[in-house]
Amino acid sequence: MSRLPAPLPWPGGARAAASFTFDLDAESGLLWEQPEVAARASVITHQSYGPLVGLPRLLDLLERHRVRFIFFVPGWTAERYPGAVRDVVAAGHEVGHHGYLHEQPSALTEAEEATALDRGLAALEAVAGVRPVGYRAPMWDASWRTASLLAERGFLYDSSLMDGDSPYELAASSSASSSASSASSVVEIPIHWALDDWERFAYLPGLVGSGLIEAPAVARAVWEAELDGLRAAGGCWVLTCHPFLSGRPGRALELERLLERVLGMDDVWLAPMEDIAEHVRSLGLPPRTLVPPQV
Ligand SMILES: [Zn+2]
Repeated sequence: MSRLPAPLPWPGGARAAASFTFDLDAESGLLWEQPEVAARASVITHQSYGPLVGLPRLLDLLERHRVRFIFFVPGWTAERYPGAVRDVVAAGHEVGHHGYLHEQPSALTEAEEATALDRGLAALEAVAGVRPVGYRAPMWDASWRTASLLAERGFLYDSSLMDGDSPYELAASSSASSSASSASSVVEIPIHWALDDWERFAYLPGLVGSGLIEAPAVARAVWEAELDGLRAAGGCWVLTCHPFLSGRPGRALELERLLERVLGMDDVWLAPMEDIAEHVRSLGLPPRTLVPPQV
């Protein structure tokens, strides 16, 4: 008898679940942290490569394999690149919420976090006519109240936390502003820094990274090792890629090889995040309450 929680049952008797995810940040994150970079054309164009070139390349790649995944899009990015977000929707992919200007929730007041959520929702609705059911905290830096704010707005799931191999129901604590009709939990689909292309490829002198940019094959090896582990553990593998990084040609080639390998695994349920969240919700798991440390 293992001391670990029993693996979740996955559709079709699969042993594990997997999903590719894409964060269409463009310039938003840099501008939120350091608005003065707006004056730097080379820095800005490093980021705008995402919606301008990386995204179309990745959409073509996904279409070749007839797979549907998710693009998390900050509202500000949707307003600056409306055609890019409409292309994502037209290609049949899910659009997720990723803040307005990529604000880190842990750095915001509750009112500011709520405003960022509402502005992001309004922008995605206005630009692409979509109402996302999934959320990913910018910089994977959720606050302790994020789940409640999401539940109040009818989100099905979050994908920002790191305390599991598999999704779970995350309790949304009630607050003064929550209504009686708010859901009591959101599905949490955990992620991890090892499964992010940022750490492998991101470099902007003086702003991001050390200057060491990994070979795409090395990045793929790291991601495959995590996949092999989560497959054995019956967990849920979620890879996060940014079009301005993984949309570059050599990296996209390697990403396609990885996708082909996962598609060839008949014991892995490869699905969009929304489908994974709906499956987990259907299991009726008891919500987990997270307790912040007292210091
Ligand atoms: Zn992001």
